[in-house]
Amino acid sequence: MADLEQFRADARQWLEKSAPPEMRVPPKSQDEICWGGRRASASYPAPVLRWLAVMAERGWTAPTWPREYGGGGLSKQEAKALAEEMAKLRLRPPLTGFGLSMIGPLLLQEGSEELRKEHLPSIIQGKIRWCQGYSEPGSGSDLASLQTKAVRDGDVYVLNGQKVWTSYADKADWMFILVRTDFQAPKHNGITFLLMDMTSPGVGVKPIKLISGYSPFCETFLSDVRVPVKNVVGQVNAGWTMAKALLGHERTMIADAFKERDDARKLVDLARRHLGDDGGKVADAIMRDRITQVEMDQACLDLTLARARDGMKAGHKPGPETSIFKYYGTELNMRRRELMVSVCGPQGLGWEGPGFDEDELKMTRDWLRSRGNSIEGGTSEIQLNIIAKRVLGLPD
Ligand SMILES: Cc1cc2nc3c(=O)[nH]c(=O)nc-3n(C[C@H](O)[C@H](O)[C@H](O)COP(=O)(O)OP(=O)(O)OC[C@H]3O[C@@H](n4cnc5c(N)ncnc54)[C@H](O)[C@@H]3O)c2cc1C
Repeated sequence: MADLEQFRADARQWLEKSAPPEMRVPPKSQDEICWGGRRASASYPAPVLRWLAVMAERGWTAPTWPREYGGGGLSKQEAKALAEEMAKLRLRPPLTGFGLSMIGPLLLQEGSEELRKEHLPSIIQGKIRWCQGYSEPGSGSDLASLQTKAVRDGDVYVLNGQKVWTSYADKADWMFILVRTDFQAPKHNGITFLLMDMTSPGVGVKPIKLISGYSPFCETFLSDVRVPVKNVVGQVNAGWTMAKALLGHERTMIADAFKERDDARKLVDLARRHLGDDGGKVADAIMRDRITQVEMDQACLDLTLARARDGMKAGHKPGPETSIFKYYGTELNMRRRELMVSVCGPQGLGWEGPGFDEDELKMTRDWLRSRGNSIEGGTSEIQLNIIAKRVLGLPD
C-alpha cells in the first residue's frame, strides 16, 4: 500500500512537470484528439505531439501492457492511480485509436510473438494508426457472409474485394481485415484474420459523408493486394474466433466512450439556461425528472463498466456480456443527446450560419452522430439477439 501511495505521488509529480499546460483543457475540436499515425507530425498541434511523445516514452499510452513491448508494465492498481491523478489534473488521454483499444489487446491475447514484437511498440508510441476492415456491401450484421477473397500464392495472400463503412481508412496506416480463405467450408469456418499495410499496391480508398456532416467513413477497394502469410492472426480459416474476440474489445470501448464526466454538468447547465432556474433546480419538473433518470442510469452503467474492467485486468476475457454494455451505452447516449437538443428547443437544431454558437452547432451534429453508435460495432437489434441467446440462454 505504501508502494502504491509512493507510485501515486511520483506519478503526480511527473505529470505536473511533464504535461504541456494546453493538455489540461478539453480539446477544442475532434481534430485535436490524437490518433497518432505516420502522418501525425503534420496533423496535430505541437503540444498534442509533445504530450504523446513524453507519455509514450514511459509506456503510459498503454499503462498495463508489458514493458517488453514498450508498455508501462503497471499493475491494475497503479494504472487506476495513474488514471485518477490524470483526471485530477484534467489531463487529456495522450493517444486514442483502434490500435490501443482493439488490435493491440487482441495481439496480446492471441497474436504470435513475431506479430506482437512488430506491432505493439508502434501502437504504444502512436506511430501507426489502424482501421477495421470487417463490413462489406451485403455483409454487415451477417458478417460471416463476407466475400473478400484471399488466395494463397507462396508466402503471400492475394486479396480482392471491397470493404465498406471503414472508419478513417483514409487516415490509417494499417488495417486489420477479415477475408475468405476457404470457399467450400461452412461460412464461419472459411474466414481468416489478417494485418494489411494500407500502402500496399492495389489498396484504394474513397470517403463517404455522414448525416452529421462529419466524414470519417470510407469505401475500401482491394485489387490484387499482396499480404504476407506471416500477418495471419490466429489460425488460417479460424478468423471468426479472432473476429469475435476483437468485437468484445470494440463493444466495451464503444460503451466506455460514453463515460464523459463533463456531460452531466453540461446537461444540467443547458437545462437551467434554456428552461430557467428555480432556486438552484431546473425549473421544468418533467425535464428535471428526465435528466435525473438519465444521470442515474449513467451512474449504474459506469459502475458496471468499472466492475467489468477490473475483471478484464484480472485476466477475464471479454465475453458476450459486452453486448449489454454496447447496447445500453449507445441507447443511453442517444437518450442523452436527444434530451440536450430538447432542452434547447430551436437552438438545438442549428446547422450553420448566424444565430447559433459553436456549442449549439456541435450539439446538433453530436445528436445526429449518436444514431450511428447504435449501428457501428453491431446494431442494437443484433446485441439484443446475442444477449437473448448467449447471456440469457433463451431458445431461437
Ligand atoms: C458510425 C459507424 C462506424 C462504422 N465503422 C466501421 C468500421 O470501421 N469498420 C467496419 O468494418 N464497419 C464499420 N461500420 C459498419 C457496421 O459494423 C455495420 O453498419 C453494422 O454491422 C450493420 O451492418 P449493415 O449496415 O450492413 O446493416 P444490416 O445488417 O443490413 O442491417 C439493417 C437493419 O436490419 C437489422 N437486422 C439485420 N439482421 C438482423 C437480425 N438477425 N435480427 C434482427 N434485426 C436484424 C439491423 O439491426 C439493422 O437495423 C460502421 C458503422 C457505423 C454506423
